Amino acid sequence: MRRVGRTGARHRLLSVLLGVLLLAPLKSGAATELPDPLILRGAAVIDGTGAPALENGVVVVEDGLVRCVGPSGECSEPPGARSVDLEGQWIIPGLVDAHVHFSQSGWVDGRPDALDLRADHPYAQAVARLRLHPEPFFRSYLCSGVTSVFDVGGFPWTWDLRDRTLHRTDAPRIAAAGPLLSTRDHWLNLPGERQFLHMRDRDAVREATDYLLATGTDAVKVWYLAVEGEEAGARQREYLALAGRWARDAGVPLIVHATSLEGAKEALEAGATLLVHSVEDELVDGEFLSLARRTGAIYTPTLTVYEGYGELRARRFDETRTEAACVDPLTLELARSTAVRPGAPDSVEAAALEAAAAERWERMAENLRRVHRAGIPVALGTDAGNPLTLHGAAIFRELEAFQEAGLQPMEILIAATAHGALAMGMSEITGTISPGKSADLLVLTRDPLEDIAHLREIRYVIRGGELHSRSDLVFTDD
Ligand SMILES: [Zn+2]
Repeated sequence: MRRVGRTGARHRLLSVLLGVLLLAPLKSGAATELPDPLILRGAAVIDGTGAPALENGVVVVEDGLVRCVGPSGECSEPPGARSVDLEGQWIIPGLVDAHVHFSQSGWVDGRPDALDLRADHPYAQAVARLRLHPEPFFRSYLCSGVTSVFDVGGFPWTWDLRDRTLHRTDAPRIAAAGPLLSTRDHWLNLPGERQFLHMRDRDAVREATDYLLATGTDAVKVWYLAVEGEEAGARQREYLALAGRWARDAGVPLIVHATSLEGAKEALEAGATLLVHSVEDELVDGEFLSLARRTGAIYTPTLTVYEGYGELRARRFDETRTEAACVDPLTLELARSTAVRPGAPDSVEAAALEAAAAERWERMAENLRRVHRAGIPVALGTDAGNPLTLHGAAIFRELEAFQEAGLQPMEILIAATAHGALAMGMSEITGTISPGKSADLLVLTRDPLEDIAHLREIRYVIRGGELHSRSDLVFTDD
């Protein structure tokens, strides 16, 4: 046993004092803005752990945190708290979108590689708007019940968004992976900043990984697309393994975008802790499932981002997939303008595209069921920012797609809350309704366990203890 002498004790005391000093400015900085305590009474509380709903529950919120959750009469009530009667309603944890990109707008101005309209919508201007004015998206997220998001790849300023929103209660909590290591030298960068760091050779991978780790990134993300040629493929596999090893040595999670079964297995072998897409080309096999179990990886199937791309190809925008009230007017206008762009496919091509999409959907749905049945944690993510996958509002269609794939509402809720927080490395902070965690909560007027589509019926969004009425978060035209 290690003896702790006086020096050790003094060192520990100093650490505690230093901890208090370091925390103090954060606490006092936020203290002036700390929301009033709340007592939420009478709702059925679904805490996100998978436990059955607690009927007629009470949730006490103080200093931005959940202080107590329990049956009526079991929580002591802070003096001066605002009491909110929620009889006949439901409280669930705030949702987590484990796959978003603030460097993309939800339309093609942020993805000119999908449809090049740069003559009308210069890329530099689109990205400057995203960087300087992300607030409409913050509001869209809260309006849609999303209180935490994982930005899994983009420009370096996405790290700043995380830091800028750290103590805000009018924005989601953000984790960010920063620029992506990429198997392809993708051109979608700007003269002064890159979002893709090409894995050209071993030195480039070392340099890029060192850069990401030095910034204190929340993850190292690899865009692991297939490359031409066996030799090039073997090299990329080696680079992925190296990036994985260096990230692991630094205690930083490895996120991989890999959509083939082979690529996803290579990602798991490299130590991926989070797969942000479905395996799409084949059905997952026992080898994949045991690899995922062994590494403890989380699977984010990202089912519906292709629907946005499908609509873009067809030059239409289906507003029923989203919640237009939670979309800012500019984004909505851009999305709607898709329909006036020329280039829609003829009926033969459109039918072929639809058939291919339907086949891919069947594989993704079956793979989600297999992964879920194997006990691998599944998180929910939308890939918001991609064309017609709109920040915030895209969550509803993804939730409903999980249900169409065969998951039960309670299982989907866990994926969209507790497992999302796990994917972000923030299980201690959010994702379930538990004493000591951030008060990130939703109040629904319809039972989410009956139908996951009832998550669209949000009355209140509580973020860091601050109560927002849904009616204050929606965008109106006036
Ligand atoms: Zn993505």
